[in-house]
Amino acid sequence: MIVMKFGGTSVKDVPAVRRLVEIVRAQARPPVLVVSALAKVTDGLLEVARLAERGDGGGAAQAVRALHRRHQEMAALASQPRRRAELLAALEALFAELLAIVHALAVIEEVSPRSADTIAAFGELASSRIVAAALEDAGTPSRFVDARQVLITDAQHGQAQPDRAKTDERLRALVLPLAASGVVPVLGGFIGSTGTGITTTLGRGGSDYSAALFGAGLAAEEIQIWTDVDGMLTADPRVVEAPRVVPRLSFDEASELAYFGAKVLHPSTILPAVGMDIPVRILNSQRPAAEGTRITRSVEPDGEAPAAIACKRAVTRIDIASSRMLMAYGFLRRVFEVFERFRTPVDVVTTSEVSVSVTIDDRRALDDIVAELSAFADVACEDGMAIVCAVGESLRGDARLATRVLGALEGLPLAMVSQGGSRKNITVVLRDEDVKAAMERLHRRFFEGETTSARATLARA
Ligand code: ADP
Ligand code: ASP
Ligand code: MG
Repeated sequence: MIVMKFGGTSVKDVPAVRRLVEIVRAQARPPVLVVSALAKVTDGLLEVARLAERGDGGGAAQAVRALHRRHQEMAALASQPRRRAELLAALEALFAELLAIVHALAVIEEVSPRSADTIAAFGELASSRIVAAALEDAGTPSRFVDARQVLITDAQHGQAQPDRAKTDERLRALVLPLAASGVVPVLGGFIGSTGTGITTTLGRGGSDYSAALFGAGLAAEEIQIWTDVDGMLTADPRVVEAPRVVPRLSFDEASELAYFGAKVLHPSTILPAVGMDIPVRILNSQRPAAEGTRITRSVEPDGEAPAAIACKRAVTRIDIASSRMLMAYGFLRRVFEVFERFRTPVDVVTTSEVSVSVTIDDRRALDDIVAELSAFADVACEDGMAIVCAVGESLRGDARLATRVLGALEGLPLAMVSQGGSRKNITVVLRDEDVKAAMERLHRRFFEGETTSARATLARA
């Protein structure tokens, strides 16, 4: 069995869903489908939540009606009158419920994280119904499955953590029997619920993670992430002009790239696949014949170059110097306990004898963090920083590669330099305005011209 996840752009309009239907129909065996909300719909729903919080009930209602109309247009995918009527009625019910929730929240002018999750979930609830109806209409037996009944999580709204055992149980009860009988189950990604039935979400971009969790729970042969680019590219296409496709990656390489900004994969996606050793593929729904990127446990390291480079922008650097002038025993523990207490992940860390520098991208608790650190250290923060990272198994094998990475950046002011414990990446922190130059220089050195990595082939899209 294969789990196929289609992202927002792959379900964004009627032609996109028609392409999805063709891709599914070309499969030898019925897959399990995971779909995102139509492109930009989650952003729209979160905007609705903000309007309600400000007490702008009229504005919020108008935005809900616009979203409803956009989904109604998708009913063109159901050509059979009865199916079309059923789909329209299902959408009607969903958006009426959303409108009622939004009204109530606008009156009290309060949207808790729990309410925000309830609102955000409507995107995936609607898209999964549309895709199931479109498949049925094309003659492929298919069934909408409410993903909230399947993906069971804790109650950390906005960033819920899955309960793997309970989710696996639900997969066996609700999804496996459908798949076994030749029906394509269609689930929304990103959404789940607590054991007591309260709606949760896995965080932005979380549909990839849902697909991987379902793939692992169903012991799938492969997890396919269908998106709008040809695969994992050698660099972010929004920063570097002509990145190439990386045909093969190891799980470790893909995780590091995702973690350091390669948005094409949610950073948690690889985890469930690693445990079960399930290959993950990234494919382009607009060019289904392209090979894509295949991610597996191990790859032949390519001594010439890293596998790819990535960048994460808008991060904050925090310099923390021990006020006792010596990096006393226990200093690092005290520092990291503060970040843990405020649930703020630290991305890059460098240390010297008396100080430690870290970067974070979630600034919500920054003031509190600085206040607590200041009790035992001198603290300075700098916004507008960015992380640039070269990743590859080759970095471990060939120590000269790290030197070449840094050499390519000569002349750019580097605020931090770090090589992760795995030795599979070399990471620098610099000012955001230098990101483009840094990425372009690295890309030119490793992926363009004669030293081009054998693992990267030119992207034609
Ligand atoms: P989806 O809606 O299908 O989940 P996303 O927008 O989340 O799609 O992810 C795909 C996007 O990720 C691409 O359009 C591209 O702009 C961006 N991206 C950033 N870095 C990379 C990379 N290294 N390789 C491929 N895509 C990347
Ligand atoms: N629809 C959600 C988002 O936009 C989840 C996803 O697309 O993966 O973040
Ligand atoms: Mg995504």
